[in-house]
Amino acid sequence: MDATIVSVGNELLSGQTLNSNLTYIARRLQALGIFVREAYTIKDEESLIHKALSNVETPLVLFTGGLGLTRDDMTKESICRYYDLPLVKHEPTLEKIEAYFVRSGRTMRKTNIKQAYFPDGAHILGNEVGTAPGMILHVEDKTLITLPGPPKEMQAMFKEVERYLEPYGDKDYHRDGFRLVGRGESELEADLEDFYDEHPSVDIASYANLGEIKYLFISKDKAKLHSAMRAFKKRLKPYIVGSFEETLEGNVVHALKSQGKVVSFAESCTGGMLTSRLVDVPGASSVLKESYILYSNDAKNRQLGVSPKLLEEYGAVSEQAVYEMAYRLKQKTGADISLSISGIAGPEGGSDDKPVGTVYFGVHAGGVTKVHQRLFSGDRSMIRKRAVVHALYLLYKVLVPDADA
Ligand code: ATP
Ligand code: MG
Repeated sequence: MDATIVSVGNELLSGQTLNSNLTYIARRLQALGIFVREAYTIKDEESLIHKALSNVETPLVLFTGGLGLTRDDMTKESICRYYDLPLVKHEPTLEKIEAYFVRSGRTMRKTNIKQAYFPDGAHILGNEVGTAPGMILHVEDKTLITLPGPPKEMQAMFKEVERYLEPYGDKDYHRDGFRLVGRGESELEADLEDFYDEHPSVDIASYANLGEIKYLFISKDKAKLHSAMRAFKKRLKPYIVGSFEETLEGNVVHALKSQGKVVSFAESCTGGMLTSRLVDVPGASSVLKESYILYSNDAKNRQLGVSPKLLEEYGAVSEQAVYEMAYRLKQKTGADISLSISGIAGPEGGSDDKPVGTVYFGVHAGGVTKVHQRLFSGDRSMIRKRAVVHALYLLYKVLVPDADA
């Protein structure tokens, strides 16, 4: 089945808000075997909603945004006027909205009642996070689904939409994939030059994002899909850090937990970002011992005893500095793995020797301290994010040396 997504909202066209609902819905639909053929992003204007409806060719249309209370929110009303469907009060929804206001201690306004009106026969999608309910509506030869704009509300509601759409997905497709780190996209593409021709019945797509690359395999033939994945793994095993759906930090936490190990970090140029990303994973508290943001030389000296002389002689961004930091961090914290990062995020501070993007990593594990150096591209924020990904990759490789994703 094919679908169309209509994203409604002035903020999406004024450059204020990234249309993340589109990518979320497209990805989730694809996982069900439903493919997005067209997408419209339009302002909160009735004529534009009508124009989109008259253009749509797919049997399924999903709207996000414009379900709120303000005058400019009119997605549901515009759809109903387009098909000439009267709105009728839906008592159970009204009761739910009233209960929501009681629970949150806020006063319900007259305009809230607008959200309890739906065309006859619509299936109402409850909103567990906010007030605006969505709906699934069959009209003429189409199924229309309306969802709220705020991503949290939309995603919570989408679970019910998934259950509803599940039977309509193309079951003939199988999909699976890998997540890779530690090798650039162009290098990977060179590694895979002949690979695509060897597996013609498998559709292979790559998605790169700041040092992480996902490969998705889709095929109607399950055996061929698996054989392509096996061949892929054989070629690129050192860089595979998980399956398509898993996260790098999630797999690092999982590996630490299952091995009963703890880590500690000393971060300079990443300024705590590595720690934050690890802490994003539920259960991180059992694997993260402690973390330091050691931005200045003075802090490196005071907290870890790295000698000012060494920092003076080799610089804070150097093999010697990250080696000392990782080693001394291990002495101080006793963590099973200690990791240090120091680099030049730019835009200032680069030299011929150490251009902007140069980052050193020190990793102490199993009684040995190793130093790694990388040169990352991009602006300050991208360099820092790539450094975090690489640090997680180094941790993963220490924990799962023969990564078997
Ligand atoms: P409510 O007004 O009850 O919050 P709504 O359905 O009317 O719900 P909108 O007013 O259209 O939602 O959007 C609310 C906020 O949700 C927007 O300011 C924006 O931050 C976010 N949002 C809306 N559409 C999208 C989208 N397509 N992708 C990401 N964020 C979005
Ligand atoms: Mg809006």
